[in-house]
Amino acid sequence: MSMCRVTVYAASSQALDGHYISAAHRLGQVLARAGFEIVYGGGAHGLMGAMADAALAEGGEVHGVIPEFLTHVECGHQKLASLEVVPDMHTRKSRMLERSDAVIALPGGCGTFEELFEAMTLKRLGQFLGPIILVNTNRYYDTMMQMLRHSVQERFMNRIHLRMWRLVDEPEQVPDALGEAPKWSASRIKQAAVTGEVS
Ligand code: AMP
Repeated sequence: MSMCRVTVYAASSQALDGHYISAAHRLGQVLARAGFEIVYGGGAHGLMGAMADAALAEGGEVHGVIPEFLTHVECGHQKLASLEVVPDMHTRKSRMLERSDAVIALPGGCGTFEELFEAMTLKRLGQFLGPIILVNTNRYYDTMMQMLRHSVQERFMNRIHLRMWRLVDEPEQVPDALGEAPKWSASRIKQAAVTGEVS
C-alpha cells in the first residue's frame, strides 16, 4: 500500500511520564524518516508537541489543524509547514481525516479517544478505509481493548470489527504495521450492522 499522509492523535497533557514523551518523540522521528507527511491537532505541548518537534527536527513535513477558539488560549505550534485555523472541533476532525491515508494514535485523554473512536466508527461504516494504529506505550490501551472485546462478546459489534485497528508496543513498529494492515473496503458497510449472523 503506498501511503504518504498520516494523521496523528495524541495527548495535550504536559504532566506525563517520560516514557510517553519518549514514545511521542520517537514516533515523530520514525514517521519523518520514513517520509510520511503528518497531520495533527497543531498543539505545541504534550505528546502532540513532542511528536511534531521531533518530526520537524528530522526535516519532516508537519501540518496542524486547530479550531479558532483554541488559538485564543494557545498559539499553536509555530514551526509547522501549515497551521490551518478552522471554525470548530467538528471541522477540525474531518479536516484531519479528509486527506489522510492512515490514523495513528499515541496515548491520550478524552480528546484522543474521541478522535480515535470517530475514525473507528467511520471505518466500520466504510467511510474511512485506512489503517488505524495505536501505539500502546506502557500498555495504555489494554483496558480500552478489553472494553472493545467485551463489546463484541455482548454483540454490540461484530468480530470482524476487531480487525479495524492494530496495536504496536513501540513507535518504531508503526511503518511496518501501516504496510501490513488488512485491506478494508467501502463494502464493509454490509458488515456494519450486528445481526446475529457470524461476521
Ligand atoms: P487529549 O488526549 O484529551 O489531550 O486531546 C488531545 C487530542 O484532542 C489531540 O489529538 C488534538 O487533536 C485535540 N486537542 C485537545 N486539546 C488540544 C489542545 N490544547 N491543543 C491542540 N489540540 C488539542
